Amino acid sequence: MRAAGRHIVALCGGVGGARLAHGLAQCLAPDDLTVIVNTGDDFEHCGLSISPDLDTVLYTLAGVANREQGWGRSGETLGVMDALKALGGPDWFLLGDKDIALHLIRTEALRAGTALSAVMAQLAKALGIGPALVPMSDQPVRTMVDTADGLLAFQDYFVARRCAPVVTAIRFDGAAVARPAPAALAALQRPDLAGIVFCPSNPWLSMDPILAVPGMRDLVRGAGVPVLAVSPLIGGQAVKGPTAKIMAKLGLACTNEAIAAHYAGLIDHLVIDTGDNCTAPGLTISQRDILMRDEPDRARLAAEILDILTGSSTAPHGD
Ligand code: GDP
Ligand code: CA
Repeated sequence: MRAAGRHIVALCGGVGGARLAHGLAQCLAPDDLTVIVNTGDDFEHCGLSISPDLDTVLYTLAGVANREQGWGRSGETLGVMDALKALGGPDWFLLGDKDIALHLIRTEALRAGTALSAVMAQLAKALGIGPALVPMSDQPVRTMVDTADGLLAFQDYFVARRCAPVVTAIRFDGAAVARPAPAALAALQRPDLAGIVFCPSNPWLSMDPILAVPGMRDLVRGAGVPVLAVSPLIGGQAVKGPTAKIMAKLGLACTNEAIAAHYAGLIDHLVIDTGDNCTAPGLTISQRDILMRDEPDRARLAAEILDILTGSSTAPHGD
């Protein structure tokens, strides 16, 4: 059994994950939190390298996220977008002017051979973020959605077609040859690691790409610390986004049991809503108010999760 440490690693996607990551950032010292973020949504658009989930977490932790729309920055202007449209350019993916500044820096850095994790660390520093914000991998991984309308790149499915096509399978191109980003690997191997949190991100679209990076599952399983997931479902429905729809299309009941089964062998704890139930042998189930309506809610849920992690045994799980 390892000595009690203080470092927490959170795995997350965009909006739902960023909410809990923000709560954790409010409860923990900067050095005690690493957030590992999905890059399966990353894509190139108008010559720009865009990392939607990393940017959502970046803007959320920096306190500059647009709360109403759930992506992008607050107080944005759309001058470039308007001009782009007027010139006959693509308008299906909205890019704010300030957001474009970030994409320009990232695109230039990647083109010069800088690792994605290095440029994200630089951007996080520029925005005054304390905790480490780390892409799951520095190698490109691209989520592809097989649908009744054919094979679609993630943003084509998610944004351009608003998740309408019927999903039949999801795959992660490039994952087989990707490696965990060095900072992700280091965080999961820290001697002072105290726990791993699976944020309430979409298990199939946001968490699976992270877990598809070779080595990631073994790092989680082999960390020897409690692993806790927060359910993205409340009352049998997703709080936001296509999680419930995808579960239905994949032939799964929209239940916490299905979430538990999806993470079987990886997690020790599942936190579900106070009004919900879950029977999952071998898992500790905790009921909390898991809806994060506002900032105090994020910090409250994060503190409750940290209490569960601190109070739990560090017996190794899995094999
Ligand atoms: P995306 O990458 O922007 O789609 O975001 P994520 O995958 O990180 O988050 C989407 C998931 O977050 C959805 O399945 C939602 O049900 C879940 N979610 C969003 N807000 C909340 C919340 O306040 N509480 C919980 N428990 N889940 C949430
Ligand atoms: Ca996403």
